[in-house]
Amino acid sequence: MKTIGLLGGMSWESTSVYYRFINEAIREKRGGLHSAKCLLYSVDFAEIAACQKAGDWEQAARILGEAAKSLEQLGADCLVVCTNTMHKIADSIQQRISIPLIHIADTTSAAIQAQGLRKVGLLGTSYTMEQDFYKGRLREHGLEVLIPGEEDRELVNRVIFGELCLGEIREESKRAYLRIIDDMAAQGAEGIILGCTEITLLIGEKDTAIPLFDTTYLHAMQAVAYALGEA
Ligand code: GLU
Repeated sequence: MKTIGLLGGMSWESTSVYYRFINEAIREKRGGLHSAKCLLYSVDFAEIAACQKAGDWEQAARILGEAAKSLEQLGADCLVVCTNTMHKIADSIQQRISIPLIHIADTTSAAIQAQGLRKVGLLGTSYTMEQDFYKGRLREHGLEVLIPGEEDRELVNRVIFGELCLGEIREESKRAYLRIIDDMAAQGAEGIILGCTEITLLIGEKDTAIPLFDTTYLHAMQAVAYALGEA
């Protein structure tokens, strides 16, 4: 089994979900007492969020690049950056290491295409919904991407940073997200990308009839497939 390098803490609320998903999948596939070989480098999210706010992506790339190098030096065979947003600097991180970075948008696109869907709604941070680094990558895979209107994007972003990253799960926020999901479905979205690794804490498959693409789960499963030589 290969060793998975997790670059987490963005936020740790979702990194802990990655850890559980990865270990549950290894147990399911290998049985018995098997668990994942993994290394976790968890950053102080306040430092990263400050870089995001300031638009200082180079500083963020320095911090995450150093962390990724440490994981490689400690023996990680691959890198999993446990956030959609920070894939904005995926290329800069990849340039600093020689192990492969498992890209969350590539993993998600493959899952969408496996279901034969083409038009999807995207929920995530404002950075992810509004900038091109993520949507552009999805489009390169042939997908059409819808995002919520401005007010709803603000709401989605506020819930991520003001609640989910702090471990607060609120019923009213869940209702608001489901309403936004329904709106995107009415505009023709055939599936919805939960494009922020904390949204899995709020919304699940049972909550809606439209197919959901939970990036935390999909990314974790791709890491497991890599570790077991199935990718
Ligand atoms: N975990 C989040 C994501 O998947 C948001 C936190 C961040 O800005 O990195 O985008």
